[in-house]
Amino acid sequence: MNESRIVLYYAFTPLPDPEAVKLWQHTLCRELGLKGRILISEHGINGTVGGDMKAVKKYVKQTRSYAPFKSMEFKWSEGGAEQFPRLSVKVRPELVAFGVPEEVEVDSSGVVGGGEHLKPEQVHELVERKRAEGTEVTFFDGRNAMEAQIGRFKDAVVPDTETTRDFIRELDSGRYDHLKDQPVVTYCTGGIRCEVLSSLMRRRGFQDVYQIDGGIVRYGETYGDSGLWEGELYVFDGRMNTRFSEDAETIGECSSCGGPTSEFYNCMDRGCSTLKLYCQDCRHIPETQRCANCEARLQENPDHPNSGPLEKPRRSQQA
Ligand SMILES: [Zn+2]
Ligand SMILES: [Zn+2]
Repeated sequence: MNESRIVLYYAFTPLPDPEAVKLWQHTLCRELGLKGRILISEHGINGTVGGDMKAVKKYVKQTRSYAPFKSMEFKWSEGGAEQFPRLSVKVRPELVAFGVPEEVEVDSSGVVGGGEHLKPEQVHELVERKRAEGTEVTFFDGRNAMEAQIGRFKDAVVPDTETTRDFIRELDSGRYDHLKDQPVVTYCTGGIRCEVLSSLMRRRGFQDVYQIDGGIVRYGETYGDSGLWEGELYVFDGRMNTRFSEDAETIGECSSCGGPTSEFYNCMDRGCSTLKLYCQDCRHIPETQRCANCEARLQENPDHPNSGPLEKPRRSQQA
């Protein structure tokens, strides 16, 4: 049996002709039998593809042969083409959809004006150095607020965001202005969202902004559950949550009874992608499985096509 693998990667680098890169990448993946998802913009590339190990190796080599991608890092992980429904290669205005492509400037060394990159050890050094100077470092969650329900950095600020677009409204609300002269470390799953977020924060007057190289994933590989991270990590695949060690705390709370849990479940109504946390006991109770919006709609219009019939609790991804 052939071994298979997945690679994850991104690079912020100017691509004057994203459509040409798209055609090249699509052909390359198709020829190698790879599946997955690749986004391309004038600001660079972000992809996850899987397939036969040899094919993936060829893909990496070919992709790096294009000068702008020469030093791009590829993160290898278990899995293969079967984890993806298809091959999707798309050109978009932004690699991460903050909704402000005109604010993002990229040159050959990456996003212009982003926060200083810190390796996991340097995060701890920063916290200690600032503390010795009498200041606390603030961790700033760069993900959707829902992801932080099951895991976050100690005492992190979690903005009120349902999607990445909401960050602009949050940053412009004035709610975080007290942090503008404070040391702030942004973090997200693998680091890509903070490449942009940290630059958007600096443009808005946050003066002392840092980001974690490789995001929570790399931090967790270094410190596991013995550092400043608390809880589990939300991931965008079928698992939905993952822990760094057996010592991981469970900080999520069941939306029905408040008991500890890290398990997200979809709202039971068809067509609703709201995810909520439920414990072992409550996820079998049908009444707890409908989100507040869908419950209100059901009260108003019991015949709405999306309301019921009751389905089994299901877990699924949210993009
Ligand atoms: Zn419960
Ligand atoms: Zn719902």
